[in-house]
Amino acid sequence: MAGLHVKKNDVVQVVSGANRGKTGKVLRALHDSGRVIVEGLNFRKKHTKPSRDNQQGGIVQKEGSISVSNVLLYCPSCKKGVKTKHEVRKDGTKTRVCRKCGEVFDKA
Ligand SMILES: [Zn+2]
Repeated sequence: MAGLHVKKNDVVQVVSGANRGKTGKVLRALHDSGRVIVEGLNFRKKHTKPSRDNQQGGIVQKEGSISVSNVLLYCPSCKKGVKTKHEVRKDGTKTRVCRKCGEVFDKA
């Protein structure tokens, strides 16, 4: 599997498109389509008819997916989205590391 460079619970920064510059937590990574759903971003308004659970009906806001190529992992040290590289720890597990400052993500 190719794998995405971000995964669930990562904090990412959007680097292009309408939400450029915004940060949020990845709620879901959609590996098949190469897209991610980021908390609080790319809302899509959905009109709903009144139902038993929602008697008013109306507009429900729901996060839409964005292409994973539009986001970078957010580095708390650099305070922005950064490119990462993979490093192998002594125990053989992989971790992502900030290319700029060496911040280690995926802490064990
Ligand atoms: Zn960094």
